[in-house]
Amino acid sequence: MTARGITIVMKIHEFQAKEILRAAGAAVPQGIACETRDAAAVAFDTLGGGLAVVKAQIHAGGRGKGTIKENPDLHGVALVRTRDEAAEAAAGMLKHTLVTVQTGPQGQTVRRVLVEQGCNIARELYLGIVVDRGAACPVLMASREGGMDIEQVAANTPELIFREAFAPDVGLQSFQARKLAQRLGLSGQSVRSAEKFMRTLSRVFVEQDCSLVEINPLVVTAEEELLALDAKMSFDDNALFRHPKVRKLRDLSEEQPAEVRAGEAGLSYVKLEGNIGCLVNGAGLAMSTMDLIKLHGGEPANFLDVGGGANVEQVTEAFHILLDDEDVDAVLVNIFGGIMRCSTIAEAILAAYRLVGFGAPLVVRLEGTEVERGREILAESGLDIIAADGLTDAAQKVVRAAARSGP
Ligand code: ADP
Ligand code: MG
Repeated sequence: MTARGITIVMKIHEFQAKEILRAAGAAVPQGIACETRDAAAVAFDTLGGGLAVVKAQIHAGGRGKGTIKENPDLHGVALVRTRDEAAEAAAGMLKHTLVTVQTGPQGQTVRRVLVEQGCNIARELYLGIVVDRGAACPVLMASREGGMDIEQVAANTPELIFREAFAPDVGLQSFQARKLAQRLGLSGQSVRSAEKFMRTLSRVFVEQDCSLVEINPLVVTAEEELLALDAKMSFDDNALFRHPKVRKLRDLSEEQPAEVRAGEAGLSYVKLEGNIGCLVNGAGLAMSTMDLIKLHGGEPANFLDVGGGANVEQVTEAFHILLDDEDVDAVLVNIFGGIMRCSTIAEAILAAYRLVGFGAPLVVRLEGTEVERGREILAESGLDIIAADGLTDAAQKVVRAAARSGP
């Protein structure tokens, strides 16, 4: 059993999020996910010809403005009017690399495209739901500034984002939805459509244990219809056990290999920007370890939480993952033995150390149950381990070690 205090989210693709929304009764354009050029051509016909869009499916946004590395004239969202154009656009995206503001310069390989009915956009709005930790409930955010970088809007003109918090057991109320619709400048029939859409979205958010749902843009069409043109959905990892259908939507090829590997070993791994690898047990200890490293002038490269009951295999795998990270110049092992005995951890560290063969300096701080025996085991091992006494000492030692061994 591992107690996982850290919320890690699982993302899904746009076409998958739209299927969930469609099944819940939300207005979503018709679309077909395709893996080949030919499938895209057939999909274009199936949708009835006319205006369509071909959209690269990757776990990152900004696709419309993003470009295909091998063909910078092609974006991650392409408007097409004929079967050939649809096939062309799909071929240009599939197996190629899409670079957007969210992928980083290396980009992401496109393995699927969504061929979707095109629509006549009159206005682009924004809707999003997140959990407001302060208010301890979900909050629906809406803005007239849809289709653009909402983080920018939030930073520069926060007054343009309207919020309504709702209790998960009650859901978003009609009056709240109507209030938001009014602030979005909707009138007539579209107020009713917006109310229905917002309440459906809120229900999906709660029912599926989402950590984020974002519709950017939600469009008002020339025909006064409301449609979700984009959909981003992620789920709280801690609740996935009760959503087998959602779990099946996971696409490992979109995730960081080290994080996938850690997950398989029952470890929580988060990659960060610095050069000090952290192996800890427990989320709270992970946070304080990182705070102390920063306090003493260092930057964590990652943190790897082995949880409450780590065994030799897990600790070995943890070291493998930490040392595979090229950014790591030193490693801090910070373990508090509660149920877990420090002697067990010390044995595991030695076994892992011998197996993995360390390149980077290793600082170890142990505290708790059987700590004396644990320290003895490390001291008697004759291995080049820097023992630390307390958290501050550990942080100072690892920061110094990283500075010495770094590039
Ligand atoms: P991203 O946010 O990754 O750039 P979007 O799905 O938001 O991708 O698409 C970008 C833009 O492409 C939208 O703001 C919209 O203007 C246009 N677009 C997307 N889907 C459609 C569609 N089905 N019909 C017409 N235009 C679309
Ligand atoms: Mg979008």
